[in-house]
Amino acid sequence: MIIRLLFTALFTIALSAQAFDFRSEPIRAHMKFLASDLLEGRGAGTRGYDIAANYVAAQFEAAGVAPGAGGSYFQVIPFRKTIPDDRSTVTITPDGRPSMLLRYGDGFATAGDPLHPDRTVEGRVTVVGVVRGSDPKLRDEYLVYSSHLDHVGITEPVNGDAINNGAFDNASGIAALIEIAKAMASQKPAPRRSVLFLATTAEEKGLRGADYFASNPTVPRTQLVGNINIDQVMMIDAVSDVIVHGIDASTLGDVARRVAAKHSIGISDDPFPEEVVFVRSDQYPFVKRGIPALYIDPGYKAVAPGVDAKQNQMAWIKSRYHTPSDDLGQKMDFSVPAALARFDFLIGLEVANADARPAWKPGNFFGERFGRR
Ligand SMILES: [Zn+2]
Repeated sequence: MIIRLLFTALFTIALSAQAFDFRSEPIRAHMKFLASDLLEGRGAGTRGYDIAANYVAAQFEAAGVAPGAGGSYFQVIPFRKTIPDDRSTVTITPDGRPSMLLRYGDGFATAGDPLHPDRTVEGRVTVVGVVRGSDPKLRDEYLVYSSHLDHVGITEPVNGDAINNGAFDNASGIAALIEIAKAMASQKPAPRRSVLFLATTAEEKGLRGADYFASNPTVPRTQLVGNINIDQVMMIDAVSDVIVHGIDASTLGDVARRVAAKHSIGISDDPFPEEVVFVRSDQYPFVKRGIPALYIDPGYKAVAPGVDAKQNQMAWIKSRYHTPSDDLGQKMDFSVPAALARFDFLIGLEVANADARPAWKPGNFFGERFGRR
């Protein structure tokens, strides 16, 4: 009887989290492509960005992650290059669909240099994939993973190099996102809730892709239950800890604590709380619309003795952040984004399978300010 109970317990565990091997090699492969010079720094609205977007969509399709934007993998975000006056209108012709006439303020965002107006409208895309949930009662609720695909593109050369490859920022996060999507799509049965995967555009221009999605989600907004964001994985040294931004804001933080404890992952305090990164990446547009979120970074407790990971990260911020030297020539430990992907996946799987959707903690600033009553 005891043996049978034990067997049942093991079987239940096997059912609730099917092992997925988060390995360094696929992370390295994604990053080698996404941060190559061919993609010219993935500036939002550029050809290099579009190639990157097609790569992510192809990876989703290969993994069995379904299109998440009305039969397409691409949510088209209308931007225009000039600051318009309030009578301006713009016509957009999406692929194969009737054109739309938009008036300023009700349909499009703006970006660019008002001194050099041009009338070009560029379609920019956030890649959206979905793993459909298996529970008829919960499958119309969605957990959202996000990570930005764009970077700053081509700028003035530094030491003869003008391409901002954005390896850490944020080929690393997209590589992790793809692996999480693969892991989620491989679950049998599928998680109870549905899970959306966003490779967002124009984060570097002010969180615009995520903001557009949070305003115009491809599923009903009230059905978005939570967000887990990945941005600029600091992957110089292998570490044993994570930093969970937003950990005290909602019940998502409780899940993160449980997963960390179960897998012997340390949770460290944010070493730079004054930077308030919780409001500075793609999770914030979700938070502002009342959706609980986490933004998770690797920590700074190096696995190797005698290594000061925090010092190395600070030196990176000073010398490589948003420069052409954030490229494939720098020191990279691909096990770091692999481990982060695994941690984020385990949190998301528990959230997707839980009876109750995530909730803000009573009295939390963001929950009080933006949460649903
Ligand atoms: Zn970033």
